[in-house]
Amino acid sequence: MTKDHVEIWNSCLSVIKDIVTEQGYKTWFEPIVPLSLTDNVLTLQVPSQFFYEYLEAHYIDLLKTVIKRFVGAKGKLEYRIPVDSTNTFGSITLPSANRNFPKNPIGQPAPERLSSGPINPFVIPGLKKLQIDSQLNENYTFENFIEGECNRLARTAGMRVAKEPGKTAFNPLVIYSGTGLGKTHLCHAIGLETKRLHPEKTVLYVQAEQLSTQYVTANKNNNRPDFINFYQMIDVLIIDDIQFLAGKAGTQDVFFHIFNHLQQNNKQIVITSDKFPSDLQGMEDRLLSRFKWGLTADLQSPDLSTRTSIIREKLRDNGITFPEDVVQYIASNVRNNIRELEGVMNSLMAQSLLNKKAVTIDMAQQIIDRFVRNTVKEVSVEYIINIVCEYFKITPEQMSLNTRKRQVVQARQIAMYLSKKYSNASLVSIGQQCGKKDHATVHHACKTIANQLETDKQFKVMFADIEKKIALS
Ligand code: ADP
Ligand code: MG
Repeated sequence: MTKDHVEIWNSCLSVIKDIVTEQGYKTWFEPIVPLSLTDNVLTLQVPSQFFYEYLEAHYIDLLKTVIKRFVGAKGKLEYRIPVDSTNTFGSITLPSANRNFPKNPIGQPAPERLSSGPINPFVIPGLKKLQIDSQLNENYTFENFIEGECNRLARTAGMRVAKEPGKTAFNPLVIYSGTGLGKTHLCHAIGLETKRLHPEKTVLYVQAEQLSTQYVTANKNNNRPDFINFYQMIDVLIIDDIQFLAGKAGTQDVFFHIFNHLQQNNKQIVITSDKFPSDLQGMEDRLLSRFKWGLTADLQSPDLSTRTSIIREKLRDNGITFPEDVVQYIASNVRNNIRELEGVMNSLMAQSLLNKKAVTIDMAQQIIDRFVRNTVKEVSVEYIINIVCEYFKITPEQMSLNTRKRQVVQARQIAMYLSKKYSNASLVSIGQQCGKKDHATVHHACKTIANQLETDKQFKVMFADIEKKIALS
């Protein structure tokens, strides 16, 4: 009798358990859910992108070994990251470095979702009633969204809206804040809570950028009416980062129609923006005046006690403890941005797991220096590629070529290393932009450069030259 995916994964776990630390096993392996085993490909569900990158960076050799052993020599591994727990279509498939061909670029819906969605990629085909993949991230709940002075109004308004969508004065609800302060998290929480309280309602989360791309495609295929119809059927429409529509007259126009229709029918609209509505340049007045009908709630930089609570919550979630002085140190030194705070915490937690040492203020300080200094001045991968190419006197196209020419390979590896250090982009996205490589290649490049920096003085001087140009930007 052939074994099924659960049995096989359990066999893998029995070996893994003997090899990794108890803490490592608990943190990185217990949350994994085996989904299927088809054609020698074992598919595992992991909770997040970070989780996936962490596994691939730290445990890939171990995973490779156990997969080969229990699935067979042809065994391959693939990951799924759920974006919506309520149906299996809502997931992103990612290849493992253990797979030898790339399958799905990150951020693209899994192919089964794209292949037969006639009107809209969110529609799940084959079901009678309108069933859509809400595109909600189940990790972004109200429960996880720590309440503080800085977000009380927006949080409360969000909960009201979820309780009675379309029936409160908060329609539209416009959530506004600078970057990394919780807009995306909060609007997912609203969507999830709405679905929990009103399972019959159709909820959809969409980034304004996606909306715009879909509209352009629909227009090209003469599908504008279908596009509008689809959106008019939604009960709770959540549009993230509306500032993206600035200057996009076509999408604004179509959104205006959808907006009016939904509002007239007492459907709920939630919008986030990184600019105050009246500062949204390039946005039509008629749209802006619609936004003013509702409530604009802002999220402010977190105060000390909120920051402390967020840190404690993160530690509790991961079953890790930090000494109290370290908690206080982090809370006092990472002030402006919750995304940064999370970055610092993830890094420190990973270090403490790997080194099996208690985290100290010194370690925290080093990581904060790196994160906070670098993300304040965030630069794009594209910008870094341009600087590196200029230095090596090649074009970005040449840098992307699949060649083993030393100079090109080196330029690409440096661009990857600097992108990891200075941009907020994920390894997957860096790889995509640097010659369509996968994240394992980026990881390898970063290691190579770090090595060279330690061992090759001449290289170090050259590297410092390039880095200076980025730092001065
Ligand atoms: P924005 O969309 O405003 O740029 P995000 O919603 O992406 O910000 O938030 C950045 C990170 O900070 C996310 O991982 C989110 O979960 C976390 N975060 C933001 N606000 C809170 C909060 N009040 N409690 C817990 N985590 C938060
Ligand atoms: Mg966001």
